[in-house]
Amino acid sequence: MAMIIDGKTISGQIKDELKEKAARKREAGVNITLAVIQVGADPASSVYVRNKKKGCEYIGIGSEAYELPEQTTQEELLRLIDELNHKEEINGILVQLPLPSHIDEDTVIRAIDPKKDVDGFHPQSVGALCIGQPGFVSCTPAGIIQLLKRSGITIEGKECVVLGRSNIVGKPMAILLLRENATVTIAHSRTQNLKEVTKRADILIVAIGKPKMITADYIKEGAVVIDVGINRDESGKLCGDVDFESAASVCSAITPVPGGVGPMTIAMLLNNCMESADL
Ligand code: NDP
Repeated sequence: MAMIIDGKTISGQIKDELKEKAARKREAGVNITLAVIQVGADPASSVYVRNKKKGCEYIGIGSEAYELPEQTTQEELLRLIDELNHKEEINGILVQLPLPSHIDEDTVIRAIDPKKDVDGFHPQSVGALCIGQPGFVSCTPAGIIQLLKRSGITIEGKECVVLGRSNIVGKPMAILLLRENATVTIAHSRTQNLKEVTKRADILIVAIGKPKMITADYIKEGAVVIDVGINRDESGKLCGDVDFESAASVCSAITPVPGGVGPMTIAMLLNNCMESADL
């Protein structure tokens, strides 16, 4: 039977460690505050924003919520970001994505001061990651590295296949695995003979946004499977990109959805907020 990699427990441990760190910082007179900006009232975004605020409360750092109406212009949003960039008491700025279609996400991400870019999406943060310089790392891939390490799974020397090449998951994931001395392959929708490629993986990381697409026949016996996907199945239930039952019959360890990668993303965001105080 495959080991379940429990993201809820591991993220809880990280949050408790951060809570202690935050208390020590407060004692030393350092207060940390995250600014969270949401434009419009997309229900999924509202849930994420609420969870981020709750996370800040739990570890004992401040959060300021900016809930802007759907019709907010790009200029208004950029003005707010500029204000927050200059506010000393704000350590991190997070703009909840997706933004309404009249606002260009790239322009908004570039407007955030890289020293406050706790999501790790600014080109400067991404560039720093690529050349091994210090900088904020995108939270979901950083969380996956923690999941693997804290589950006692060796990354060094392993054959890792990252399925998906988005800027926020697939690409930074591949670079982080490389930094951990894995041999890394990135696969995507144009990859030929996908099953042959994924079956090479000792560690298979799936981030494609296709409900339950990855079944046992994509997986090498004994591999570790990390499912990043968050989807709804036919009955509206949350599910990953991996068919859990099928995959669990061949792999040695697997993350569930929910309760795997998801909780780690917020834990790593809080970790980035904590680091922002040291910049
Ligand atoms: P994107 O849609 O940005 O990227 C999907 C990637 O998957 C693309 O590179 C695409 O290839 C590839 N792909 C799509 N279909 C196939 C296929 N049939 N075979 C092979 N590759 C395919 O998605 P994200 O990276 O943003 O997110 C992926 C999933 O992870 C989603 O379910 C999302 O909800 C979830 N997610 C979860 C997070 C968490 O905290 N747990 C955080 C972020 C995302 P190509 O480039 O060729 O189009």
